[in-house]
Amino acid sequence: MQFKELGLDPKVLQAVEEKGYSDPTPIQAQAVPVVLEKQDVIGSAQTGSGKTAAFALPILSLLKKPGKLRALVLAPTRELAHQIRDNFEVYGKYTGLRIALLHGGVGYGPQKKKLADGVDIVVATPGRLLDHISQKTIHLKTIECLVLDEVDRMLDMGFIEDVRRIIRYCPEKRQTLLFSATVPDAIRRLSQWALTEPVDVTVGAGQAPAETIEHAIYPVDGIQKFDLLSALLETISYERLLIFTRTKVDADRITRWLTQAGREVLTMHADRSQRERQEALKSFKEGHCNVLVATDVASRGLDVSGVSHVINYNVPHNPEDYVHRIGRTGRAATTGQAYTLFSTDEFSFLKEIERFIGSPIPRGKLDGFAYRNDPLIESKPVRKKRNRGFGANRPRRF
Ligand code: AMP
Repeated sequence: MQFKELGLDPKVLQAVEEKGYSDPTPIQAQAVPVVLEKQDVIGSAQTGSGKTAAFALPILSLLKKPGKLRALVLAPTRELAHQIRDNFEVYGKYTGLRIALLHGGVGYGPQKKKLADGVDIVVATPGRLLDHISQKTIHLKTIECLVLDEVDRMLDMGFIEDVRRIIRYCPEKRQTLLFSATVPDAIRRLSQWALTEPVDVTVGAGQAPAETIEHAIYPVDGIQKFDLLSALLETISYERLLIFTRTKVDADRITRWLTQAGREVLTMHADRSQRERQEALKSFKEGHCNVLVATDVASRGLDVSGVSHVINYNVPHNPEDYVHRIGRTGRAATTGQAYTLFSTDEFSFLKEIERFIGSPIPRGKLDGFAYRNDPLIESKPVRKKRNRGFGANRPRRF
C-alpha cells in the first residue's frame, strides 16, 4: 500500500512526500480511507504508530482550502496539543489552511487574535477551549470533524466532563474520531453517545510495547537506585536519554544529584511553568542537552525523535504508563532501549505491567556494579496449591 493509493489531496500528498515517508503505517492505511469517507472512527494504536498523521492527513484533504472553522482536535496535554498542531502545519503547508493552538498557561491575547483572523482547524486542551467558548471568542457550530485524542488520558486527568460539554457545543451532525489506548466503561459510554456507527481501527494488541524496543528490569535495593542509575549512565552510550520518575520531588532530586555529579540535565514536570517546559523540550529536541528527567507529563504522545534510551527510575503504578514511557524510544521503526530500576517493594506493580503487556520482562544485572544484596533476577516461583484430590479432573461448572 502506498500513500498515493489512499485518496489524499495532491497538496497533502506532496507534503508527505517531502517529509520522506515511504509507506503509510498500518493505522494510516486503515484509518485514512475511512476518515476520507466521513465515517466515525474509534481507534487505538501503539504509541509511535503514526496515529497523528492517520487523522491529520485525511482531515486536511477533506477541508482542502481555507474557509470557516471546521475541524477541532482535543488533546489532554499542552505538549501533545503542540505536537498535533505542528503535524497539521507540516502536512498542510501547501493547503493554506489555518490552524490555531489553544491551551492554558499562556496569555489569551494571541489566541483571540488568531481566532478573530479566522481559522480552519483548532487544536486545543479542554479547559482553555471552554474558556474561549464562555468568552464567545470561538463558536463550534460549524465543526464538521471532531477528534478526541488520547481519551483514556483525558479520563485519567479528570477532563471527561469537560469533553462532554465541548461535544454538546458541536453540531450533532458531524464526523467524530476517538482515539484511546484502552476503552474502559466510561469511554465506551462516551463513544456510544458521541459516535455514530464507528469503524474500529485498532492496530495490533494496543498494549504491547513496539517490537523495536528492547526493555529490561534491573532489580536493585531501593537505597542503591541512584547509584545504579549513575553506573548505568557511565555504561550505556546514549544519544538522547529520557529518565522517568513517578513524582515531581524525585524528578527534582535526581536532576539535582546528576547536576552535582557534573551532568547537564533538563527537567520537565507539572510544577514547571509552561515556558520552562517548552524550553526544556525544545532544548532536548534540538539536542542542546541530551538528558531529560521527567514525570509522566512527558510520557504520553510526546514525539521526540532519536530518543535512544529510556530509564524508569521507578516502576510505574499504572501499567499503561509503562508502555507509554518506554514508547518514547524505538519510534517509527528505529530501535531503542529501556531500563526499569526495580526494588522489591514495587513487585505488585511489576506483576501488573507484565500481565498488561502479556509477557514477562527480562531481568538484567549491571556487570561490575557493587550490589549490596544479590539482585532478585528470577521472580519467586508460585507455590503450587496442595492437591486435595479433586483438581484437574473435576468437571468445570459454568
Ligand atoms: P505519532 O504516533 O503520530 O506520534 O508518530 C510517530 C512518529 O512517526 C512521528 O515522528 C511521525 O513523524 C512518524 N511517522 C508518521 N507517519 C509515518 C510514516 N508513514 N512513515 C514514517 N514515519 C512516520
